[in-house]
Amino acid sequence: MSDDKHFFLREPWKYDRAATLAAREEAVEGFETRCLHVGFDPMHSQNDFRSFVPPLVQSITFPYETFDKIPCPVYGRTRTPTNTVLEQRLASLEGGEACLTAGSGSQALFNLIFTIARPGDNVVTSLNVFGEGYKQAVTIFPERCNVQFRFVRDPADAASWDEKIDEKTKLVWVETPSNPCLFITDIRAVAAVAHSRGVPLMVDNTTATAALQRPMDLGADMVLLSISKFMAGNATILGGALVGPEPLVEDIRWNTTEFVGAIMQPMEAWMALQYVETLPMRMQRHSANALAVARYLHAHPKVERVNYSGLEDHPQHALACRQMSGHGGLLSFVAPGGMQGAATVMNSFKRVVHAVTFGTSRSICMHPPTITHEHMSAGERKAAGIDDGLIRFSVGLENPEDIIVDLEQALAKM
Ligand SMILES: *Cc1c(COP(=O)(O)O)cnc(C)c1O
Repeated sequence: MSDDKHFFLREPWKYDRAATLAAREEAVEGFETRCLHVGFDPMHSQNDFRSFVPPLVQSITFPYETFDKIPCPVYGRTRTPTNTVLEQRLASLEGGEACLTAGSGSQALFNLIFTIARPGDNVVTSLNVFGEGYKQAVTIFPERCNVQFRFVRDPADAASWDEKIDEKTKLVWVETPSNPCLFITDIRAVAAVAHSRGVPLMVDNTTATAALQRPMDLGADMVLLSISKFMAGNATILGGALVGPEPLVEDIRWNTTEFVGAIMQPMEAWMALQYVETLPMRMQRHSANALAVARYLHAHPKVERVNYSGLEDHPQHALACRQMSGHGGLLSFVAPGGMQGAATVMNSFKRVVHAVTFGTSRSICMHPPTITHEHMSAGERKAAGIDDGLIRFSVGLENPEDIIVDLEQALAKM
């Protein structure tokens, strides 16, 4: 843990690919082991309570030993012992140097951009991003901070990314597989473009999680996470994190979150630690169930299209197999009859719940054109593949046959 002495205005982070690479450490233990152990050792002498489980330290302030010795942690707006365990664990799982938690994935994105961009700067991304990210990109950042977001023309084409980068570009932001259309972006190819222009690459790893995809091994400089989705797995907590170089993480911690209190609460961090223990097993089962459901939907005569990279004839199947070890639990499909068709199917589900969020142990569905991506223009939705009949479907941990039975009877209403 770094020294909390310099708690007023840290040096702003400067992108340095060589330093980022040099600071990365090869993990000694396996992924499953690290999900259980990183950040807390029950046998360590600092474990004053002899606790088997990482303690939930529900305190926002930490006593001074002497007048001029600032304790670390000092106050809950910057870190707490429980958040630190989670931060160390997530950094290890993603293969990054450091991590900072936030109150949500959206807040983690906001904290990052707000810290690294100044008026006149820009961020290059695509339309394949989650709804609140898109809204930050087209409303609050340009209107209030004069930070512009540029959407690439064809995210499958590396030259399209290169085209949008200029000397004012502070970040390239990729979300893959994307929410809600599960578009796969080639992380290696975009990393090569960004690095050739001296710009860092951030990959949003929310849908795959580190259990299935390690963007930093493919060239990303930092990883954005919503903990609220598969990571926590049951819609019980909101949380987010950014994994990346330590100087960047400390820049955000001391120059933004310390001032505005944009943090994850210790209770949520503690709960996230419990959920992360089972992440690899859950992602395997989510992936297996989603593949079964995707195959069923793909063969269904009434379904117009299925977005799931695990299907052999998905245009990016080979790329997805190269950069992920499984295709995850999220898919989307297009019901016939546009908005009305989607409404009929979603209103007919008996088991599958209609609600915002995904990555839950229970199967859940949502209608992106009206709920999360309603701010996009019709043209942008078309370019992003968000048809009026699109249903986002997060395949849960039920027996897959039961999910298919529910889909069967709902689609029969069409
Ligand atoms: C939901 C989501 C986020 C934002 O997460 P919250 O914790 O809900 O704010 C970020 N990225 C992706 C890909 C998401 O799906």
